[in-house]
Amino acid sequence: MLVGTKHGMYINGEWISETAGGVIDVYNPATLEKIAEVPNGSVKETERAIQAAKVAFEPWANLTARERSSYLYKAYHKMMERKEELARLLTLEQGKPLREARGEIEFAASFLLWYAEEANRVYGEMIPSSKKGKRLWVVPKPIGVVAAITPWNFPSAMVTRKVAPAIAAGCTVVLKPAEQTPLSAIEIVKIFEEVGLPKGVLNLVTGDPIEIGKVLMESSDVRSITFTGSTEVGKLLMKGSAQNVKKLSLELGGHAPLLVLEDADLDLAAELAVASKYRNCGQTCICTNRIFVQESVKEEFTRKLQEKVKQLQMGNGLDDGVTIGPLIDKGGLEKVKRQVEDAISKGANVIAGGKEWKGPGGYYYEPTILNNVSNHMDIMYEETFGPVVPIVSYTTIEEAIQAANDTDYGLAAFLFTNDLSKAITIMERLEYGIIGINDVFPGTAEAPFGGVKQSGLGREGGREGIQEFIEMKYVSIAIKDV
Ligand code: NAP
Repeated sequence: MLVGTKHGMYINGEWISETAGGVIDVYNPATLEKIAEVPNGSVKETERAIQAAKVAFEPWANLTARERSSYLYKAYHKMMERKEELARLLTLEQGKPLREARGEIEFAASFLLWYAEEANRVYGEMIPSSKKGKRLWVVPKPIGVVAAITPWNFPSAMVTRKVAPAIAAGCTVVLKPAEQTPLSAIEIVKIFEEVGLPKGVLNLVTGDPIEIGKVLMESSDVRSITFTGSTEVGKLLMKGSAQNVKKLSLELGGHAPLLVLEDADLDLAAELAVASKYRNCGQTCICTNRIFVQESVKEEFTRKLQEKVKQLQMGNGLDDGVTIGPLIDKGGLEKVKRQVEDAISKGANVIAGGKEWKGPGGYYYEPTILNNVSNHMDIMYEETFGPVVPIVSYTTIEEAIQAANDTDYGLAAFLFTNDLSKAITIMERLEYGIIGINDVFPGTAEAPFGGVKQSGLGREGGREGIQEFIEMKYVSIAIKDV
């Protein structure tokens, strides 16, 4: 493990640690101890990385899909071999419990494997012409240099979910990971270096997000930006990319509702509501943010939920038995505190948690449940990104659907029922890109992940994910009969 060392940026196959901007410190959010330094890169380094990716593009795109996929297969095996070490590093820089970090490494590696396979299945088309003597082809082509900007909450999986399909498609990449969690991204780049990925195909810059973002947006050599992060930054990227009419793939915020119907298996619903809400300390884009329970079972469901929440153990994710870690930073903690205070001031009751916890030094907040919640509280409209959930009751299914859809977000929604007709009807009316029915873990490499409304554009994963990096070239050929 490379903790304590000074890391570099990876540009055109070389590691660069000296920059005019100095360094950025990386902290363990569980203890607030400094664990590493990365370069504070800016305009110059980003321009160099784009140039390297531009030069590498044509030779990379001209390889056969099989040749490109061979690097991804090798990277997948290396990542799985190093699973434990990478999981520990992930927990150290991000804070999630080690068990979750192991799951994330497997999830991250699964995108390498999936896109090693999908690289070989990017098909074109031959269209039957309406005119004699014409042949119409549609030829898939990689889009070019791609900028990939990733968040801190899944520092490993969000990198491979973008990089794997991009390079499988024949694109080259400039990767900019989140400031708080660059170490997992650096290790993934090292894996690609070890498997011999040609120089310039994957470049990594760390540093000032505004300066780096500006160069990526304004460069006409960057043909696409694939971004996972907040809706706010997603909108900035859309505006900034308009000048060059750049393609954008945006995986943005969420505000997932979880609906419990009176016929549901309440034990399962409570168990999975806790798993969905409190994993990664509530810092997951598809985390349950609002629970809607049918009035007739609200009391029983709430009691079961409280019992499950009591069993969670807060602490440093590297310690045995810990099931919920710290928030990533002070800003994250302040947001949670403000939402809880706002709800209480407007009449909500805290029925679990509700307090900051000093713990081993990081920013911790107890897993919290709020009751007596109403529509005019911030928590009902803002993405929480912390370990707090409001419970609201409803009488009719129509009421539940209206409430669940009453948000600008549209990433994921969850539904608990044993009635197939209700499940299908409600699923069809929920305005979300992802629906879990008696399931809160929909994310998997082989399925398309993404939101509607202000939760984003495009899809990651599945056969759709690689299409984000492909453009279709239409070729019309006039021929003479011979
Ligand atoms: P964020 O603040 O939007 O940051 C995401 C990335 O964008 C980071 O690398 C950040 O760099 C960079 N960035 C910030 N300002 C930028 C700018 N002006 N130009 C270019 N890049 C810029 O989001 P976050 O707090 O890291 O992540 C949490 C958010 O991600 C939540 O809203 C969550 O729902 C969303 N998310 C969505 C999905 C999904 O699949 N839909 C998955 C995971 C997370 P710095 O770190 O250097 O600031």
